[in-house]
Amino acid sequence: QFLVRNHWLSVDPYMRGRMNDSESYVPPFELNQPMDGGCVGEVIESNHSDFAVGDHVVGQKGWRDLWTTDGTGVQKIDVNLASPQSYLGVLGITGLTAYVGLLKIANLKEGETVFISAASGAVGSIACQIAKIKNCHVIGSAGSSKKIDWLKSKAGIDEAFNYKKVDDVSAKLKELCPDGIDVYFDNVGGDHLAGAIDNMNKYGRIVCCGMISAYNDETPQPGPSNLFKVIGKEIRMQGFIVSSYLDVQGEFVEHMTDWIGAEKVVWEETITEGLENAPQAFLDLFNGDKMGKAVVKV
Ligand code: NDP
Repeated sequence: QFLVRNHWLSVDPYMRGRMNDSESYVPPFELNQPMDGGCVGEVIESNHSDFAVGDHVVGQKGWRDLWTTDGTGVQKIDVNLASPQSYLGVLGITGLTAYVGLLKIANLKEGETVFISAASGAVGSIACQIAKIKNCHVIGSAGSSKKIDWLKSKAGIDEAFNYKKVDDVSAKLKELCPDGIDVYFDNVGGDHLAGAIDNMNKYGRIVCCGMISAYNDETPQPGPSNLFKVIGKEIRMQGFIVSSYLDVQGEFVEHMTDWIGAEKVVWEETITEGLENAPQAFLDLFNGDKMGKAVVKV
């Protein structure tokens, strides 16, 4: 076994689902037990032949200072290649989610029109830039003017709107995508999903990555009332869980490293200092008070 001191913790929306006692693709967190989640740390003691003191690793034992492991599911990372915390974001699970959603689920083609919601977030911001690399016309939505400016000036997408200033997402999409949407990368659900369905082109694809607008609801939201349109438009709607696509990780890291080296992908991080402030970092995922990938520096 070896002992790891955590330096960075990942803060992710899916953790909200694990706070409900309901059946899901991951078991709920248990009361009076530490939470877990993605983390990056440094080996500080080792009896393991493959892991030496000083190695940096990615694991799943976040929300704590220290953890022991036999190495199962733990990966060594090269912190000379990229910052340690980028292995939780752009080079980690959230970057992989964007890559899988667009290229493996939607089978994105050059020149298509793509709408991405929560576009300035950890997954959305990388999805926007992968779609631009594929020469697509990209429209994003986010919740503040600062985020809209970043999407246009740094991520280089074609159109972006602040959904908090829009009464009718469907009408806004019609204005911004007069030729319709080929791929919708859904991080939000609710009115964004309904608005996208209204504007999808024939044979469009909807990638159901997340539906954060519903995560804190006490009663379920009604489904989109225009769902019947998926029939006439022959739309394919597919959900996915990134952990089912870990076999793509090698290919993804190779491409992403090249794109970062060529300055085709940039990203933002919101860093919260101190394990004791991790709960607030988590709450900020839902009130929009963060840019890019949320991480905690322990
Ligand atoms: P983000 O970094 O995007 O953080 C969440 C963002 O969602 C917030 O910053 C906020 O930005 C936006 N948001 C919060 N509440 C609402 C709301 N009610 N309506 C619209 N937007 C809202 O998180 P991630 O990039 O890590 O995750 C994005 C989505 O992808 C989530 O739904 C998550 O569950 C999902 N996901 C799915 C995975 C999979 O395997 N399928 C893997 C990883 C993530 P704003 O200011 O723009 O409102």
